Amino acid sequence: MAITQQQIDEINQLKQQKSSTIRPVSADLEQILYDPIEVLDHGFIRVVDYMGNDSSVVQAARVSYGAGTKKVNADKGLINYLLAHRHTTPFEMCEIKFHIKLPIFIARQWIRHRTASVNEYSARYSIMEDEFYIPKIEHLAAQSKINHQGRDEEGNLTSQEQIKVLDILKKDSKNCYDNYLAMINQDSKGQLIDNNKDGLARELARMNLTLNCYTQWYWKIDLHNLLHFLHLRADSHAQYEIRIYAQKMLDIVKKWVPFTYEAFIKNQQSGKTLSGPALEIIKKLIKGQKVSQEDSGLSKREFSELHQLLDYQINP
Ligand SMILES: Cc1cc2nc3c(=O)[nH]c(=O)nc-3n(C[C@H](O)[C@H](O)[C@H](O)COP(=O)(O)OP(=O)(O)OC[C@H]3O[C@@H](n4cnc5c(N)ncnc54)[C@H](O)[C@@H]3O)c2cc1C
Repeated sequence: MAITQQQIDEINQLKQQKSSTIRPVSADLEQILYDPIEVLDHGFIRVVDYMGNDSSVVQAARVSYGAGTKKVNADKGLINYLLAHRHTTPFEMCEIKFHIKLPIFIARQWIRHRTASVNEYSARYSIMEDEFYIPKIEHLAAQSKINHQGRDEEGNLTSQEQIKVLDILKKDSKNCYDNYLAMINQDSKGQLIDNNKDGLARELARMNLTLNCYTQWYWKIDLHNLLHFLHLRADSHAQYEIRIYAQKMLDIVKKWVPFTYEAFIKNQQSGKTLSGPALEIIKKLIKGQKVSQEDSGLSKREFSELHQLLDYQINP
């Protein structure tokens, strides 16, 4: 279970608190504030705080004394212009704070994004929970032969192979966790197993845990750097297990700053930056001129990627 009844009660209690403010808020984000959004089998993301909304971006861009906003269309257009032309600092005026529960091997990828403030659950201080990420069977796929960094299309392992993998993952996770508890001489609730013995320090015992154990952190970031993170991690090149978190965060961004979200999808997520030689090829194609990979200035791989991107037979 991602979250316990006691934690749900605590969240509900928080949600009873009402306060009025003259600061800019986002009505749609207020609706889901504190609520855990489930990700993977035991993980979640929840927004615990935020600062600013679309109007804060506009306000900063116009360096205004008051609200800074004009007609909705003008504000929307300005946000789109800023994002399209990489005028990024107004987006740094908005911040968001998440509480995220995620498997340790995904946390290692996540922490590479250096522009956030992070505070992680201490496995020196607290006992790790007995929760492990066990993939859904359909997500168990073989190593890709094309992309050396990832998995192949799903469905290329036999169901017998998938069942065997699941069995190994479950047994090894439990085995290592049981040994972890034995070493610290405590059960998962913190009760001593043998009253007459000292357990090994938690900071040492944890080295025996598997990477699919869940960790938790508070992660605070500004909107500009969040969009950078999402551009990389909501992308098809990112591993499924981090991409699924990024996709849920994109839904959150849509509620929080809808104009910025729209501009981000339009200019970055569904767009593509082209190299100079690639642009030259497109210009030649529009003019009906012939192009070949050899004199295009692109490598075979780049040429083939452009081909796929344009969904067009460049060199018949
Ligand atoms: C699909 C994918 C595969 C990857 N594979 C690997 C891999 O095999 N091995 C590996 O080690 N990593 C890998 N990474 C991680 C990757 O190299 C980056 O470390 C990670 O994506 C963080 O990107 P970033 O530095 O742009 O982000 P952030 O750390 O969030 O930084 C945001 C931006 O701030 C600026 N910035 C931040 N800190 C500095 C600094 N100290 N100096 C200068 N500018 C700075 C840069 O402009 C940077 O783009 C992979 C990432 C992805 C998305």
